[in-house]
Amino acid sequence: SSEPTGESGKDRVKVVVRCRPLNSTEKSQGHVKIVTMDPSRGMVQLRTMNKLVSGGEEEKPISFTFDYVFDDTSNQADIYQKSAKDIVESVLEGFNGTIFAYGQTGTGKTFTMEGSPDDEGVTPRSFRNLFDKLSEASNDKSFIVSASFLEIYNEHIHDLLVDREEKQGLTIHESPTEGVSVGGLSLVAVSSVTEILALMERGKGHRSVAATRMNDRSSRSHCVFTVMVEVTQFSTGEDDPALAGMAAQMMGPDGAAGGPIKKATIRGKLNLVDLAGSERQSKTEATGVRIVEAGNINKSLTTLGNVIRALTRRNAKHIPYRDSKLTRLLQDSLGGNARTAMIANIGPADYNYDETFSTLRYANRAK
Ligand code: ADP
Ligand code: MG
Repeated sequence: SSEPTGESGKDRVKVVVRCRPLNSTEKSQGHVKIVTMDPSRGMVQLRTMNKLVSGGEEEKPISFTFDYVFDDTSNQADIYQKSAKDIVESVLEGFNGTIFAYGQTGTGKTFTMEGSPDDEGVTPRSFRNLFDKLSEASNDKSFIVSASFLEIYNEHIHDLLVDREEKQGLTIHESPTEGVSVGGLSLVAVSSVTEILALMERGKGHRSVAATRMNDRSSRSHCVFTVMVEVTQFSTGEDDPALAGMAAQMMGPDGAAGGPIKKATIRGKLNLVDLAGSERQSKTEATGVRIVEAGNINKSLTTLGNVIRALTRRNAKHIPYRDSKLTRLLQDSLGGNARTAMIANIGPADYNYDETFSTLRYANRAK
C-alpha cells in the first residue's frame, strides 16, 4: 500500500471517550453523576469535591479534550460513524486498522464493540459496512474475506474458533513478506455478513465456556477479532494499452480467450479489540498464578498505551511492540500506514472516580 501524504501520527490515531448512562442500581443507591461532556468541543469534565481548610467544599473539575466524546445520549450508529467507519473503509484500500475498546470492567467495552442484535455495536457494523462496500464495487474486482478470532489470556494466545482447547499457547511469527501471523490460528473464509456474524457467535461461545471455569476470565483477557480482505483488480486491457495484448491471450472464466487478467492485489486487515478491564488488578488478594496474571494485564495495557503514544509522536525512536503479546500481534496494524481508534469507556458515577480518572489519563496520553 502507498504512503499516505500529509498525515501525521495524530491523524492515524483517533482517541474518543464514551460514557455510559447511570444504571438503575447506581440510581437506587443514590450515586451521582460526576462526568459531564461537551461533544461540540470534544471535552469531558470530571467533578471532584476537595475539602477546603476552612471545612467547606470546593468543586474542582478536571477537563480533558479528545477527538470526540460521546455522552449517555449517544447511540451506536454515531459512535460507529465518528470513530470506526473511516478505518473500516480504508481496509478495502489496503490499509490495516485497529479499533480498541478500553476501560474499567462494566463501563461498556463489550456493549460498544458487540452491542446486541437490535442495537449493534462497532464490530457487526463494520462487517455490514465492509460487505456493503464490496457488493457495490465494480465487477472488475474480486474479493476474499477471511476472519480469525483469538483471546490473549495471561500472555497466552488461544484460538476461539476451535471447539476444544487443542489450540492453546499459539506463537507469533513475523515475516518481512507476510507480516505478523499466529502459527496454527484458524483463518475462516466468509462470504456474507450472516456468515461472519455466525463466526463471531461461535467464538464468543468458546470464550464464555472458559469463563465458567475461570473466575470472570472475560474481564481479564484481550479479545481480538480480525477480518482480512484481499481485493484483486482485474483488467480487460481496455483502460491500459500495455496490458491489452496480454489480456487478449488470457483465458476467460468461460475458457475463451480474452478474459480478464489480474492487475493488482491489495490486502488490508481490520482488528476489533475488546481489551481486558483496565481496573487495577488487585494484588492484595491474589496469590501465585493470579499475581503473575495481574501483572501481565497491567503490563500489556501499559505497553499498548506506550506504543500508541510513541506512534503519535514525531521522531519516536523506539516503539516497544515487543513488550507484550498484544502489541506484537498488532505490530503491522499499528503505526506505519495503519489507522487506529481507541474508544475509552467510562462510567458516570462518583464511586468510580479513581478508575474514571485513570482511564481519561490513559486515553489522554495516547492522543
Ligand atoms: P464491559 O465489557 O466494559 O465490562 P459491558 O459492555 O458488559 O461492560 O457493559 C456493562 C453493562 O452496562 C451491560 O449491561 C451493558 O448492557 C450496559 N451498558 C454499557 N454501555 C451502555 C450504554 N452506552 N447504554 C446502555 N447500556 C450500556
Ligand atoms: Mg466485556
